[in-house]
Amino acid sequence: MNPQIETLRSLEEFDHILRDIASDGYQQVGFKGIKISEELIRIAERERAKLTKKIDPKILHQYERIMKRYGGRVVVQVIKEFCGGCYVKLPSELVVRCRTELVTCPNCGRFLYWVK
Ligand SMILES: [Zn+2]
Repeated sequence: MNPQIETLRSLEEFDHILRDIASDGYQQVGFKGIKISEELIRIAERERAKLTKKIDPKILHQYERIMKRYGGRVVVQVIKEFCGGCYVKLPSELVVRCRTELVTCPNCGRFLYWVK
């Protein structure tokens, strides 16, 4: 997998964690009244900040824009020849390129990754 994609996937994971922690509903269901550790929040924020430094600012900007627009699921898997985010069929040259390069879906703009 392209290392940039791996970094973006980790970033997305931290964004989901931080969002879950901040949501009341999740706190009630997920933690059954247990107070979420301040330490975990600090670690997640710090790790997220570290990751953002590894990402090209242009790509990070693109990431943030998609995160804002769709509220999550920024880095998606290619399923056969389909985008795992918006489910359109992708051009076959793009499907080939996503195995080695950082590419985005021409329809929704999400980052694509390939799993064998
Ligand atoms: Zn798409």
